[in-house]
Amino acid sequence: MIKINHYILLGFAISAALLPAQPPPSAPAKPDSDAVKALIEKAKKAGGAQWAGEAHFFCEAPRANRPDDPPIEPTKIFDNVYVIGNQGTVVYVIQTSAGLLMIDSLSANQVDTQLLPGFQKLGLDPANVKIILMGHGHADHFGGSPYMQEHYGSKVYISAADWNLMENPPAGAAQKGPPPVLPKHDQVVTEGQPVVLGDLSIMPVAIPGHTPGSMGYIFPVKDNGKTHMAAIYGGTVLLPGIISDQGLQTYLKSVAHFKEETKKAKVDVEIQNHPLMDPIQPKLDRLKTRKPGEPNPFVVGRGDYQKFLEVMAACTEVNIARRKGL
Ligand SMILES: [Zn+2]
Repeated sequence: MIKINHYILLGFAISAALLPAQPPPSAPAKPDSDAVKALIEKAKKAGGAQWAGEAHFFCEAPRANRPDDPPIEPTKIFDNVYVIGNQGTVVYVIQTSAGLLMIDSLSANQVDTQLLPGFQKLGLDPANVKIILMGHGHADHFGGSPYMQEHYGSKVYISAADWNLMENPPAGAAQKGPPPVLPKHDQVVTEGQPVVLGDLSIMPVAIPGHTPGSMGYIFPVKDNGKTHMAAIYGGTVLLPGIISDQGLQTYLKSVAHFKEETKKAKVDVEIQNHPLMDPIQPKLDRLKTRKPGEPNPFVVGRGDYQKFLEVMAACTEVNIARRKGL
């Protein structure tokens, strides 16, 4: 009896502790000061017209992905890349000479409703997924992977720090409902050690902040035979409220690190696992009616890819300034 009461009390304490971490998305607790407003202007200026929506999302109106984000039509977005999921969270399936590699895996409860139907719609066999590469160790990304491991023998790759996060969740990180089923501990992904499948080589970049082991990935894609470099920042902070002060500082450094690496790799393709700050549906619509010679909407160019990350950094500085009460 005492034990049960204690457990219930602990549950209440944890829920209460989590409540302030989920503020209404577009209602800051207090109006921004002139100093913060100036930083927001700086972010908007950095982004220009191309990234106005991104600056508004990250600096002023962030929101988390939701279970009711509308599904997208599963689509081939490059010669070798497919996207499956919904407007809040997606996975990318990459065709290689030795089978399929998937980045992220949606939630466990989206396997039957979105993931597998997506493969079917695209004419892809989920049994060909050899590797699942995870952006970070949260259940909206790894939840579908135990099914893939069990049914198709896919191997799951996650950074050491996020295997640890998943397998030893920190005290206080209580979830609603039962804990998610974890994938079997397969492979560790490390910055500087490319993940290779057939003719595909993906470069992992460590980007701690959202989680201790968040990873970004850089890899070549082909658009009508022409090679481009794509990058996905696998640990984007959507709601800064859930990140500690130190986490935000770490995140700022990681964005700068990713900026350097993507610049070196000449990245010109911007994709997201939570495409909320740069909505994916309009791009899929444009692809559908794309005529020969028209650009692929996911190819933003090298300069604009760097600007995208500048806006992420500038809005993180906005959030840090808000924390400091500037
Ligand atoms: Zn997450």
